[in-house]
Amino acid sequence: MILIWILNLSFGNCTFFTKEPIAIMRDTYVHKGKRKQLVDYLHQKIGIADSLVLAAMNEVPRHLFIESVFEDYAYEDRAFPIAAKQTISHPSTVAEQTELLAVKEGEKILEIGTGCGYQTAVLVKMKALVYTIERQKDLFDFSHKIFKELDIRPKFQSFGDGFAGLPTFAPFDKVLVTCGAEMLPTELLKQLKVGGKMVIPLGKTDEQILYRFTKISDTQFEKEEFGVYKFVPMLQNKSH
Ligand code: SAH
Repeated sequence: MILIWILNLSFGNCTFFTKEPIAIMRDTYVHKGKRKQLVDYLHQKIGIADSLVLAAMNEVPRHLFIESVFEDYAYEDRAFPIAAKQTISHPSTVAEQTELLAVKEGEKILEIGTGCGYQTAVLVKMKALVYTIERQKDLFDFSHKIFKELDIRPKFQSFGDGFAGLPTFAPFDKVLVTCGAEMLPTELLKQLKVGGKMVIPLGKTDEQILYRFTKISDTQFEKEEFGVYKFVPMLQNKSH
């Protein structure tokens, strides 16, 4: 009886289930091998040339950011459902968006749509100073927890509406939007430094075109187009 009570108490506290080393132990040589194959595919078949992007994606254990039922497929070029009816983007989309951003060490990056945190982790591994916003509380909480477990440190993580950006921390070198916006969020362009870049999918809910805006002056932008994609929608206001 006493023994059962003691066991309940320690399981109830659950301390040894949440300690960091467990996540790290779950990144095995098999995962690492599959990850390397994915990175080779991104380089050779998708044409990703930025070695910093490839190195970062070789480091981030994508299988720990998704439901364990999808673990065996985590290193295929596939999107998966995550909490709150959202999706983790295809690795090729993450790689393409990150390459378009031309990230340099120490740059201040604003990311809209933390989701499960995978893209954030890639940017952090590239030694960027990442400020990230998520409007879904479940995903904000999930990403916060996995960052802690994996010792991934974005500069600032916010639960809020990305349309407003983060004026307190502006200006940013780069802005990355990981959800599809129907209209251009002009507030985000304002928070960009002159010379800075914003990568954003724009269009209706069923498909968007990926754009890169480069800020030439306070009022002038260069706009480049990079093909059709399908992202979850960028929605107004935060959700509980
Ligand atoms: N980069 C993410 C992709 C997640 S999908 C990953 O690697 O998992 C895009 C995310 O954008 C979703 O989590 C969605 O909730 C979020 N989102 C949509 N509109 C938003 C808004 N206005 N502000 C902040 N996040 C938003």
